Amino acid sequence: MGKPGAYLEVDRREHAMRDARESIADYGELALPLASEEQRLQASRCMYCGVAFCQAGMSFGAARPSGCPLHNLIPEWNDLVYRGALTNPFPEFTGRVCPALCEAACNLGLHDDPTAIRDNERAISDYIWNHGEGPLAMEPVDDGAPKVTVVGSGPAGLSCAWELARRGVHVSVVERADRPGGLLMYGIPNMKLPKDVVERRTKLMGSCGIELRCGCDVSDTEVAAQLLDESDAVVVAVGARQARCLAVPGADAEGVVLAVDYLTGATKALLDGGEPAVSATGLDVVVIGGGDTGTDCVATALRQGAHSVRQLEFLPEPPRERRDNNLWPEWPAIRKDDYGQREAAAVFGNDPRTWGVDTLEVLTTEGAVAGLRVASLDWSDGRPRRIEGSEQVLPARLVLIAMGFTGPEAAVFEALGIDVPERGATHRLSDRIWLAGDCRSGSSLVVNAIADGLACAAEVAASLDR
Ligand SMILES: Cc1cc2nc3c(=O)[nH]c(=O)nc-3n(C[C@H](O)[C@H](O)[C@H](O)COP(=O)(O)OP(=O)(O)OC[C@H]3O[C@@H](n4cnc5c(N)ncnc54)[C@H](O)[C@@H]3O)c2cc1C
Repeated sequence: MGKPGAYLEVDRREHAMRDARESIADYGELALPLASEEQRLQASRCMYCGVAFCQAGMSFGAARPSGCPLHNLIPEWNDLVYRGALTNPFPEFTGRVCPALCEAACNLGLHDDPTAIRDNERAISDYIWNHGEGPLAMEPVDDGAPKVTVVGSGPAGLSCAWELARRGVHVSVVERADRPGGLLMYGIPNMKLPKDVVERRTKLMGSCGIELRCGCDVSDTEVAAQLLDESDAVVVAVGARQARCLAVPGADAEGVVLAVDYLTGATKALLDGGEPAVSATGLDVVVIGGGDTGTDCVATALRQGAHSVRQLEFLPEPPRERRDNNLWPEWPAIRKDDYGQREAAAVFGNDPRTWGVDTLEVLTTEGAVAGLRVASLDWSDGRPRRIEGSEQVLPARLVLIAMGFTGPEAAVFEALGIDVPERGATHRLSDRIWLAGDCRSGSSLVVNAIADGLACAAEVAASLDR
């Protein structure tokens, strides 16, 4: 398997990133993949451990499991990359945007830098798309096959549809937006996941007989009734789209915008031409939320030419090293410096984040944002306490809310005549209605959504004797 002991000779090397000063000038992909020979050497670092935690996907009850939730056969891939014998059906999304739970659970990471598994995955998929006819297509489904409608074309809906079709089911995917892909299309920015990568996958699915219908809103009761009428089963994979809102005076002012709406407008403008629905050009921008979505907003605002960008986080600054109760192979809950922060530092000279900040009020002039009143929080005893005298007013003309999501929108469930499911509900909601992805688990990760779509498809197919 691979090259025994190579990890003693070869240091970890990840893909490079475009220089921050250059990358903020466009929406082109950030990652600069390694040359194939270098990637091969990286793959050789895999130790082929006896117990490979990287592929375990053990949750320990945490949001980010330890190891790959898709149980990808990671040592085998690394070996395939090393030997130049490449094959893998579905890695182009996770090879770009997965936080790489597998790397955090890599045995080599205990004593050294882990194997660069995500880059190896991307190398496999790029090779297939660039050197072959694309991933293997599937046999057409026979006429008498059962029919399933999947509502929502995010990673959960797409993986569910793919697996159902593979098991001989007629699948239609209906989608409210004008393009398929869910947050892969309208959410994650082009710099991280180029939209042609999403489009070539959905086109391939179409050519395999999976019908993809956009502009179809299933929260319309007539549409929902028709889908139920014409399908043997309906899988709801509508994501956790209900955003957590800012509950302070002035939060309804013009210029307070939800992150996904803002990012959707930016991607639409990139793909369709024209101006984005909301632009940060020349504005003082404050992003509320220190997570990945907030970082995507920071990076997008920089590209639009914001006058200033700040990113506020309610929680305290995470430690630089694992805490004693955050043991390997759990996901390390440590401070992460991502592309948005690096780019902001290149433009403005400093990291845009401030931790431990509470937003008290959106100040307005004639109904539009004019500033943000905030206070600092003391977390020293583990609970937030407002620090007396710490109040200040930040300049702001655009406030982007990236405070997470509370769950799925209710309307689609109401239209289908069922209760809004609790987080963590079973896949099966009723005789013919099923649930997959973030609308089941709460907002999560692409890799978890793909895994959940596959798991749901297996249950649906079994119920249809497929
Ligand atoms: C800005 C942002 C950046 C992210 N970046 C990353 C990342 O880098 N890496 C990572 O692993 N995860 C990331 N995530 C999380 C990841 O994108 C989600 O966990 C994942 O997309 C969830 O997949 P899903 O299929 O369950 O839902 P979604 O991707 O939300 O897809 C749901 C689909 O259902 C459609 N829909 C909703 N209602 C209806 C209706 N009534 N009728 C018809 N269709 C409907 C929606 O339009 C959407 O297309 C990010 C999330 C956000 C918000």
